[in-house]
Amino acid sequence: MKIERIETLVCHARMRNWIFVKVITDQPGLIGWGEATLEWHTRSVIGAIEDISQLLIGEDPSRIEHLWQMMWRQHFWHGQGIVRSTAIAGIDIALWDIAGKVAGMPCHKLWGGPVRDYVRLYCHLGGGKMESFYGTPVDEAHRFADLALQAVSEGFTAVKTMAVPSTMPVEGLKPVKAAEACVAAMRDAVGDGIDIAVDCHARPSPAMGLKFAHALDPYGLYFLEEPCWPESIEGLAMINERVVTPIATGERLTHLAAFRDLFAKRGCEICQLDITHCGGFTEARRIAALAEAWRIALAPHNPQGPVSTAASLEFGFSQPSYIICESVHADVPWRSEVVQEGYTIDPATRTVRPNTQPGLGVTINEDEVRRHPFEQEILQRVFYSDGSVGDW
Ligand SMILES: [Mg+2]
Repeated sequence: MKIERIETLVCHARMRNWIFVKVITDQPGLIGWGEATLEWHTRSVIGAIEDISQLLIGEDPSRIEHLWQMMWRQHFWHGQGIVRSTAIAGIDIALWDIAGKVAGMPCHKLWGGPVRDYVRLYCHLGGGKMESFYGTPVDEAHRFADLALQAVSEGFTAVKTMAVPSTMPVEGLKPVKAAEACVAAMRDAVGDGIDIAVDCHARPSPAMGLKFAHALDPYGLYFLEEPCWPESIEGLAMINERVVTPIATGERLTHLAAFRDLFAKRGCEICQLDITHCGGFTEARRIAALAEAWRIALAPHNPQGPVSTAASLEFGFSQPSYIICESVHADVPWRSEVVQEGYTIDPATRTVRPNTQPGLGVTINEDEVRRHPFEQEILQRVFYSDGSVGDW
């Protein structure tokens, strides 16, 4: 068995261009699907996959670890840059899909699963519709409550919101009170039985992140995500130490050593590794083993396309510390037409039963993908009131 070609298919899905990776073998009909979506860097990732492919053509796709080592270590530069680690991830996921298909079993069974009966989903406010999740103003707390109630009416028992505004390195009480009002309104609306998470998008400085974390602590958040820059492990650790709310982070880390450093400083309680950015299943499984040693939970970052979701679920059915799967379902109305999945979602509870098909269990509808060719992603640029550059 040999790898014959590696192709990329781009599917423009409004906020993101989904990059699907197709690894084609010399065995009739045997292909693997991966995903390497990296918003605003679509052309870079496609180029990186083309570059890396030169190492893999003609190789045996079942030697996944060997191929991963080549992708990460060869050609001098290691693979931790976000473009390269995403490209590696897309290919690695596809190789595991092939391994599952060869074995005739879902990926999670290759890894000793299933370890649970179902996986719980959480949604973004507005189901992942860009305007609802990113565009709801924090001075309109009632809209946060309405959207949270809508998610509950759709069966979700957990929802993530962007209730923390962009702030300069130090600001006063106003943004903190605004965030608190949004979370209070949501808690009032949905009650204590629904889990609310807040994503700070790494906008705050450690000082502001601590202010937000402290103000939101009484509302029993499920987690507070990226309360400061991922580069500031000390800042994350300081906030995690000082509040009861579990701190979540990890979506921008790309390799095992970065997670080692984060865990060693106790920068989080929930590890949000992104399987499509951190080198695929091969590296994600090492990161998960490391997290297990620190008793840190796993909730992979997954706002991308349908192959990423299938990958997160395969991972979830094989990892004991996996707590919940991030999901978007309303980013584009034709999402379900792009892919056929092997898992089933109970719409009443938004829980997922395991994939029963070999590999990831996904079939990509390439004709549908071709209906949504690449378009430049909508630029999301933030400037503070004085014109200086902020974080999105
Ligand atoms: Mg996030």
